[in-house]
Amino acid sequence: MASLPRVAESAGARAGRKVATLTSDSAEHIPAPADHFLPGPVLLLGAPGVGKGTQAQSLMAGYKIPQISTGDILRDNIARGTDLGRAAKGLMDQGQLVPDGIVNDMVGARLTQPDVDDGYILDGYPRTLGQAEWLDAHLSSTAVKRSGGTVVPLVAVNIRVDENELLRRITGRRICSACKHIYNIYSKPPKHEGICDLDGSPLLHRSDDTEAAFTERMKAYNTLTAPVIEHYSKQGRFREVDGAQAVEQVTAAIESALKQLRQAGA
Ligand code: AMP
Repeated sequence: MASLPRVAESAGARAGRKVATLTSDSAEHIPAPADHFLPGPVLLLGAPGVGKGTQAQSLMAGYKIPQISTGDILRDNIARGTDLGRAAKGLMDQGQLVPDGIVNDMVGARLTQPDVDDGYILDGYPRTLGQAEWLDAHLSSTAVKRSGGTVVPLVAVNIRVDENELLRRITGRRICSACKHIYNIYSKPPKHEGICDLDGSPLLHRSDDTEAAFTERMKAYNTLTAPVIEHYSKQGRFREVDGAQAVEQVTAAIESALKQLRQAGA
């Protein structure tokens, strides 16, 4: 992970600025070292299989900020058999999006947790223009209610990969049932088939990582998520990176894009 200046310290005019939208009254804020760049709130976008989850895990480990994956939250609800999980499962298995109201509420609740103070990586949300507009309004209203400081806006990075490569990535994907580490049986297999290298837990094949569901998920991405890219792009809060490179190179490209966005005043 490159060692970059903190956002607030690298931009003089914004010195001292924190992620005011998300400051918890009760949580003590422990500042990161001065040479540690903090990217603020980040949205990772990209078609199914581009590597959003893998990249979110790298960024989370490097910056010590949480990954918020709406897909993971939904799958957790399915595993626990909640009403929300039961409502979402059929749609997810068919590769369709869950209604905006459900995911917005989930994200709103997650953003009340104190661990988001220094920023967070949103993985797979917002996926529709309605969600993006809800999130912008939610972050602004939360900022007013809380410390009254300047809002560090959400910036979006889209990971781009040729569609032909995505199907192989999707069907080969396996995920640790415990730590959520992501493998691929073709390009990044575990040492022992079906077992996580890190904690020995069984690996899972997502029920929507099939060719049929992939086709539907691509349709949803191309029609519903494309306007989200335009939304952030129009506001100068968007960069695109080439996701066909090695995982570490994609991570470096994302870090560089984040630094550029923050230095440009986003
Ligand atoms: P993911 O793990 O991000 O690939 O998401 C898996 C599935 O969860 C998607 O295909 C959708 O059915 C559902 N999902 C995840 N995030 C969202 C979202 N922001 N809006 C609507 N549905 C979502």
